[in-house]
Amino acid sequence: MKMQSINVLLLIKLLTLHSLLVLSASQDFDFFYFVQQWPGSYCDTKQGCCYPSTGKPESDFGIHGLWPNRNDGSYPSNCDSSTPFDASKISDLTNQMRSDWPTLSCPSNNGLTFWGHEWDKHGTCSESVLNQHAYFATALSLKNEINLLQALERAGIQPNGQKYSISDIKSAIKGASGYTPWIECNNDSSGNSQLYQIYLCVDSSASGFIECPVFPNGSCGSSIEFPSF
Ligand code: 5GP
Ligand code: 5GP
Repeated sequence: MKMQSINVLLLIKLLTLHSLLVLSASQDFDFFYFVQQWPGSYCDTKQGCCYPSTGKPESDFGIHGLWPNRNDGSYPSNCDSSTPFDASKISDLTNQMRSDWPTLSCPSNNGLTFWGHEWDKHGTCSESVLNQHAYFATALSLKNEINLLQALERAGIQPNGQKYSISDIKSAIKGASGYTPWIECNNDSSGNSQLYQIYLCVDSSASGFIECPVFPNGSCGSSIEFPSF
């Protein structure tokens, strides 16, 4: 073989290797979990909660986070300390963030700590797809696409402290949205299992909901409370 064609082959191999490396370094995940929390279930625990400094959030699910995840159940975290959370990049979104992504941790604060934590821990791992502004804007628009509380209420599942079966809760959401959710429970201060968080899955380019490739671990018991807020 001529020297020239060997060089061309070598170049092609190097380029392929390079693009594979770039691809694996920039997108180390397969899909996202989009996680929303029920404020009543965050607040009625032993630990309790604090309302944001801007006031009590409305009685609705709030965003917890948009989390890059792998098909084997593992997930990357804190991927890029060179792009820390910068509130000035999302100033156009803060009004909507306050209502759709309220913080309930204590002491009472304006939410920047929660949002910053979610960006630093999870958002920096999907920067190949979503920059900081797009990360928050995408989460807000995903919340608007599927109204979880409305889906539940239309199926007669209301936040009134009564008990509901997990399968009824899942069917209500699947029926309204087309997607099977995963339900995470926690315990209220008396130890009753209750609806805490709802997980839906989003494709790796964050363009829309998909059926979850894998669900997290854990279980709720077959019948759980849905407390008021
Ligand atoms: P916990 O241990 O309370 O379930 O979760 C603590 C935190 O770990 C979550 O808020 C989230 O930041 C992260 N986490 C827990 N489970 C998962 C998971 O399955 N996927 C991803 N991407 N993050 C998770
Ligand atoms: P993750 O569990 O996503 O890793 O981290 C949640 C972090 O955000 C914790 O440090 C928690 O104290 C803080 N945080 C602030 N506000 C909230 C909230 O409203 N809900 C939850 N789950 N965590 C919050």
